Amino acid sequence: MSEQLPTTARAWHLDTRPQGWPSPSGFSLRQVELPALGPGQLLVENEYLSVDPYMRGRMSDKKSYIEPYEVGKPMDGPAVGRVLVSNAEGFVPGDYVVHVLGWRDYAVVDAASAQKVDPGLAPLTAYLGVLGLTGLTAYIGLERFAKIKEGDTVFVSGAAGAVGSLAGQIAKLKGAGRVIGSTGSTDKVKLLVEEYGFDAAFNYKNGPVAEQLAQAAPDGIDVFFDNVGGEHLEAAIGALKLHARIVLSGMVSQYNDEKVVGPRNLWNLSVTRSNVLTFMFSEELDLQPDFIREVGGWLAQGKLHSRETVREGLDNTLDAFFALMRGENVGKMIVKL
Ligand code: NAP
Repeated sequence: MSEQLPTTARAWHLDTRPQGWPSPSGFSLRQVELPALGPGQLLVENEYLSVDPYMRGRMSDKKSYIEPYEVGKPMDGPAVGRVLVSNAEGFVPGDYVVHVLGWRDYAVVDAASAQKVDPGLAPLTAYLGVLGLTGLTAYIGLERFAKIKEGDTVFVSGAAGAVGSLAGQIAKLKGAGRVIGSTGSTDKVKLLVEEYGFDAAFNYKNGPVAEQLAQAAPDGIDVFFDNVGGEHLEAAIGALKLHARIVLSGMVSQYNDEKVVGPRNLWNLSVTRSNVLTFMFSEELDLQPDFIREVGGWLAQGKLHSRETVREGLDNTLDAFFALMRGENVGKMIVKL
């Protein structure tokens, strides 16, 4: 018997732009009509959704590197789903694709913006995490921007999260001499050292970051892979060795914070002749083949560990996003539909 095809989808909408911490009342899960399938399009049933810190930025209308979500419209983001109907060459029903119409159960997707993935090679969730944009972000930051070298002392903030946990491990696999991570709980500190092989880790909630970093890296750091910003960034600038590199991956401590205080010690960048570098993974996709070869290889050899925190159900997608911002995830936060 042929599959009954959906004509509507349920999608999370942004109803009001949050100030500071978002409140659930600013969002709603609503039914929307699915458009008719045009040439080059796919009807996709989403199976997994990604919630990511950058989405908080899109809820505001401040100037950014990506368009803000529109008030009264569905939100979007990475998702992996199964093709139900294909109007596009090279795609057939049953194929799995990664695309950007997440925050909903069904979507009509332009095949040109979808990437076919093989569930036989890796679990589908890996394409949103370790083999997706989060893994790629960690890889690009270290390889292209930090230009990691044998023996480097590397400090990673947000180290138990999706990007951070991979950044620390990749640094080690690339020959870093000492890798230090900071995170927000005792359990996560333990995980960093015992499972991910960090040489040292600390809980940033237990005391000033500068003091804890000085203990973990008494000789200073060569590379800071920063996911957090704020106090972490100031502490790292204060700990730089000569010719160090700071890679600004993100600044999650500031996404909900209206009163941002900048680092007061920028002069130390000049003193140590160090550089601060920023990047957006989507502009560095030429590194993807190297990334898949190296990171895929380490995964296959069991040298790289990646964890996921999975919440169930489209109804719980917003909760999953809030939980991510509160640090309730270990590794990649995923919603399973
Ligand atoms: P994640 O680290 O898996 O999740 C966010 C984590 O942030 C939470 O688990 C929490 O962990 C931590 N956090 C929340 N509030 C904090 C605070 N006030 N101070 C310190 N830590 C806090 O998220 P992700 O997807 O891997 O993203 C990590 C960073 O990478 C983000 O800044 C994101 O914007 C950035 N990113 C950049 C690119 C790029 O192309 N440049 C691409 C993707 C992601 P704790 O329990 O440790 O507090």
